[in-house]
Parts: sequence; structure tokens; C-alpha cells
Amino acid sequence: MTADRVYLTFDDGPDPEWTPRVLDTLADAGVKATFFAVGQQALRSPDLMRRVHAAGHAIGNHTYSHRHPWFMFSRAARAQVRDGAKALSDVLGVAPQFYRPPHGRQRACMSDEAQRCGERVVLWDVSAIDWGPMGSADNIEKRLAAVKGGDIVLMHDGRNQHNRPDQLLQILPLFLRKLSDRGLRTALLPS
Ligand SMILES: [Zn+2]
Repeated sequence: MTADRVYLTFDDGPDPEWTPRVLDTLADAGVKATFFAVGQQALRSPDLMRRVHAAGHAIGNHTYSHRHPWFMFSRAARAQVRDGAKALSDVLGVAPQFYRPPHGRQRACMSDEAQRCGERVVLWDVSAIDWGPMGSADNIEKRLAAVKGGDIVLMHDGRNQHNRPDQLLQILPLFLRKLSDRGLRTALLPS
């Protein structure tokens, strides 16, 4: 991790409605990010998943179907990681380099499985909290103002259950411009 770099990450995609808009915004700003994708969604939108990868963004495994890590038997929990990795590999032709557990809830057997799949476990330093009742554009903007060099930033491109990519997108161009004004550059997560 480098002190003048910021590591943007987007979870819960690919989403046919919102991921293209996030991609367009990042492209306009010349920014690369890491996308933690859900395996079954990648299988449903393979062309979109390949578009994310082809744009030069890094890809992480966010499990097969985003079940809460704590409410499964360990066999199912391991399968969530393994099947997520396989879905992404099948669609992209390359294995994901990173793993992030749904809800950030770590579980030893899942981290172990991710490492067996060759994925590094990555959480975050700053969450945009771009979901639920706190996820208005104003609130997201305030939270993102606290991002500093070296931070991994969590945002969401997938609608999923409670995410609010509509709100995030209202302030994402401004956030990217402010990072640049502050001399902070974005980078892919180091593998
Ligand atoms: Zn998630």
C-alpha cells in the first residue's frame, strides 16, 4: 500500500442497471478500481463481467451468492468461496486475485478456502455506507471526504438488497475529482 494512493473497491455486482454507469464514471475520470463480484451474478451477466475486466479493473471474489458467512455450515461456506471463484474464472478465463467476505464477516474456513484458491483476503478502511437509511448522497459525500492516502474504500455497484448505487452515482464524479485535486491517485489493489 502506498501513502498517496487510494484503492477504490466496488462490491455486489455485476448489476445490469448500475455497473455500466459506474464503469462510465470511472472511465471519464481515468480511474481504475477493484470489483468484488458475486459469482452467480457474473454468470447471469457474463458480457458485463467481461467488460469490467476488459476495462482494466481488478476482479475479486465476493462468493457465489452472497449468503451471510455466519449462517451456514462450514461445508456450504467453503463452497460459497470455491463456487464464486469458479464462476468468475469460467466467465473471465482468469482466476480472481482477491476475496472479500459478504458483510465483511470473516470466517476462518472461508478465508482458508480463498487462500487455497489463490486469493488474498481484503477488507476495507473506509466504507461509503452507500446502503440503507444512511445511504443518501449527502451522507456518502461526507464519509468519503475522510478518505486519505493508503485507504481501501468500500462502495457498491450492485443493487443487491439495500444498496443505493443511485445515491452513490450522484456524488461519485465529484468524489473522484476531489481526490485528484488533493493529489491522491487511485490504484488497483496490489496482488
Ligand atoms: Zn457484499
